[in-house]
Amino acid sequence: MRQNLLRADNKLLNYPIREVVTIGKALEKLGHFKMTWENIGDPITAGEQMPEWIKEIVRENSTTDEAFAYTDTRGYLPTRQYVLDNFSNEKICTVEDILFFNGLGEAINKVINNLPREARILVPSPTYPSHATAEAMHAGCSFISYHLDPANNWEPDLQEIENKVKYNDHVVAILVINPNNPTGRVFNRETLESIVKIAKDNDCFLIFDEIYHSMVFDGVENTLLHEIIGDVPGISMKGISKDIPWPGSRCGWIEVYNAEKDDDFRDFIQMILLAKMLEVCSTTLPQMILPHVYSAPEFEPYLTERIKKYHRRASEAVEYFSTIPNMRVTMPGGVFYFVVELIDLPRAKLSAKTKTVRLYIDDLLASSGDVAPDFQFAYELMGSEGVCVVPLSGFGSSLNGFRMTLL
Ligand code: PLP
Repeated sequence: MRQNLLRADNKLLNYPIREVVTIGKALEKLGHFKMTWENIGDPITAGEQMPEWIKEIVRENSTTDEAFAYTDTRGYLPTRQYVLDNFSNEKICTVEDILFFNGLGEAINKVINNLPREARILVPSPTYPSHATAEAMHAGCSFISYHLDPANNWEPDLQEIENKVKYNDHVVAILVINPNNPTGRVFNRETLESIVKIAKDNDCFLIFDEIYHSMVFDGVENTLLHEIIGDVPGISMKGISKDIPWPGSRCGWIEVYNAEKDDDFRDFIQMILLAKMLEVCSTTLPQMILPHVYSAPEFEPYLTERIKKYHRRASEAVEYFSTIPNMRVTMPGGVFYFVVELIDLPRAKLSAKTKTVRLYIDDLLASSGDVAPDFQFAYELMGSEGVCVVPLSGFGSSLNGFRMTLL
């Protein structure tokens, strides 16, 4: 007889940012309306136009034979050199320490899944779901949450981080997402320096997801990991999905810092490289265009304009949501997301667009068992207002709320 093909831990694998889409699409069809999609951070799908000058760079590079060839397992060498010179720090990193992946999503999976089974990582709550879910895929490897506090501008409690690193076995790394998804928080330099110190004192390495490093509002200062890491081992994660923005390129990279100073860490990075080698390499063309786009004179004014737009929309959103009872908001420091916390959320039924939509939502809630209140709210919002957002509990948070985009 054939074996059951479903893994016992299948329920751990989820990505709510896309899962809400299946329900949203069904509601759209049943209710004959058009959903406003505020769930996913893809500026192009949201309607931003890719500028002609970027398309021209892609066209030009695609006429070279090199664009059709494999790259080195680590990635296209001239681009790794460009990344080293422009985003990284050659005192703690070399071109050999820069590894390209098919999207930062792949890099996250490779990093987390190549840790030993007993390893534990400190992960923020709320967090970008791939980090936590990637861990769930790696049977045995687990994560421990530390909280970002909405009452303190979503800053972490450093004492909590220190205690959790100190008093749990096998904590090997601390993950920081800065600028943050989902909250839009750009962390204070002192906070980040303290986290580096905790890692150093407790023999951990650091993982900083910095994919939004260039998307900070005017007047807000961003601190990058390579500026403060000193001699602690660490990984910075970056990509081109958000700032260029070419999410369909599936192109992201990691910069490994201080690999030579820690044998265990270097061996672990070697495992990531071997895992990548089994897949040969990442897609060549996006890596080839990267230096041309970032160094084009048009890039900075183009990005500045977009960030100004998100900043304006964030201010408007704060003003709007601050007037609504039971909703709490914090002004983000960057990125294009916005979190609304739902306080004392009533399990109310909103007036659905049609009877069929009402029936679908009721059936969904009845068949899904114990649905978190903010998921219920998100379904009701889709069925009544036609707006799709991601429930905050989908980001591993014990708080109720939702994340929406400012795109
Ligand atoms: N890390 C964070 C914090 C993100 O928000 C995202 C995408 O939304 C990713 C990683 C994945 O990016 P990529 O499109 O390069 O896979």
